Amino acid sequence: MATTVTSQSDHSDDFMQDVITQVPENGPAIPMGVMNQDMEQEIIAEEQRLIQQGGNGIPLDSFGKPAPLLPALSKRQFSRKCLVLDLDETLVHSSFKMVPNADFVVPVEIEGVVHNVYVIKRPGVDEFMRLMGQLYEIVVFTASLNKYADPVIDILDIHHVVQHRLFRESCYNHYGSYVKDLSQLGRQLNDTIILDNSPASYIFHPTNAVPVSSWFNDPHDTELTDLCPFLEDLCHVDDVRAVLDGFIDMS
Ligand SMILES: [Mg+2]
Repeated sequence: MATTVTSQSDHSDDFMQDVITQVPENGPAIPMGVMNQDMEQEIIAEEQRLIQQGGNGIPLDSFGKPAPLLPALSKRQFSRKCLVLDLDETLVHSSFKMVPNADFVVPVEIEGVVHNVYVIKRPGVDEFMRLMGQLYEIVVFTASLNKYADPVIDILDIHHVVQHRLFRESCYNHYGSYVKDLSQLGRQLNDTIILDNSPASYIFHPTNAVPVSSWFNDPHDTELTDLCPFLEDLCHVDDVRAVLDGFIDMS
């Protein structure tokens, strides 16, 4: 595989970043302005239905059999809760533009051209993952493409705690917005927590979410480290939703 940059593509770095990692922060990707009122109403009604219902539930395969996104819990993980971690702007920040202090560089091929992606790790991420890996079943669930995210997780997961990886195709496409529908995982919702910088990701399950701010490059950020004691306690409660309900200001 080629490992040098190339960047003779017709697309700008910003465009490439949009293709690979960026997802709308809030609401449907279709701008409201280009929709007629009926369509807007339809989207809002569908969203309300899915919020009330708590997602779509376990998907069915082509034979009509339940096909959860995750395999059954392994024996070793059996009593553990599931901690779903977002990747971009939660654990790392990546850029197609050269970053002098990058922790690592991942080559990604797009349309036959290899681009270097510069990845910086959020402060405290190594110890955060090590500790969480002792307590939870760890799933990294990202709306990014796997050809970028898979090699990033390979390098990021130095303690080998990530049990499962889910990429963009596992998200529920809600009118162009990628939602991480926790009801499709095949885990009990009372035992499932999502840590994500984007509230749009967990719009169907706000009471399963631990919000975290978007991180880009602040070297003094301590949020992952600060969350550890809370998450250490949360793994012992009967229903995480009882604790996380009201945690988020959805206004
Ligand atoms: Mg994110």
